Amino acid sequence: MSDARTPLIAGNWKMNLDHLQAIAFVQKLAWTLKDANHDFDDVEVAVFPPFTDLRSVQTLIQADRLELKFGGQDVSTHALGAFTGEISGHFLKQLDCSYVIVGHSERRYRHVESDETIAAKAKAARDSGLVPLICVGETAKDLERHEPSAVPASQLRGALIDFKPGDEFVVAYEPVWAIGAGAAATPDQAQNVASVLRRVVAQMIDEETAAKTRILYGGSVKPDNIVGIMKCPDVDGVLVGGASLDVETFASIVRYKKHATF
Ligand code: PEP
Repeated sequence: MSDARTPLIAGNWKMNLDHLQAIAFVQKLAWTLKDANHDFDDVEVAVFPPFTDLRSVQTLIQADRLELKFGGQDVSTHALGAFTGEISGHFLKQLDCSYVIVGHSERRYRHVESDETIAAKAKAARDSGLVPLICVGETAKDLERHEPSAVPASQLRGALIDFKPGDEFVVAYEPVWAIGAGAAATPDQAQNVASVLRRVVAQMIDEETAAKTRILYGGSVKPDNIVGIMKCPDVDGVLVGGASLDVETFASIVRYKKHATF
């Protein structure tokens, strides 16, 4: 974490919480963080609900003037047209989404999305005025064959092909072997890969963009490991899966500064 970049704590709900549960969750999260005097300018908070929840979440956030950000979990490579089941970046922007996740490992591996598709999704998001949150990460098998940063760095190079100085995006380093595993990467492991990813941004775009870009860690983040992760100089936040589905647990991760001195 560097003072130059605002930390981002992001919760990926995946296919959990329907729109009624989403409203109850967001209300409770907002009250919990308000009671704790959370400063959203100091640590930004975003949730990524399923598509069918987004309108409800938007309405609540607007009506109650909440400082929470939100985004979609995926986006079409296309802007409009005969693409059954797809959701365009324009539609997400119209719902006031700030972010959209692209390249999550569940999409790369279960939905067989290639680096080219992820690059097109990241570009479509950027062109719609959304900030793409680009996920990269190696599997356990990748680790047997390559050094830890090789696959994430190559995935990031692929995703940034159309990006230029001044474009905003967030990178999430998510080792696939740590997702849902219960045990996160160590802070040293997260820092080593995050620093390589920052160099990739510098090489693909420029030093200024690399210095501004937030790089998150994701994979079994919990209240008891967040402090070590946030002490890494190149890690600027976390993408949380399972632990983002419980308000108290997620709020405790958001409030990581209360557990240590930074
Ligand atoms: C994820 O799937 O993005 C993730 C980080 O999951 P978890 O926190 O449950 O490991």
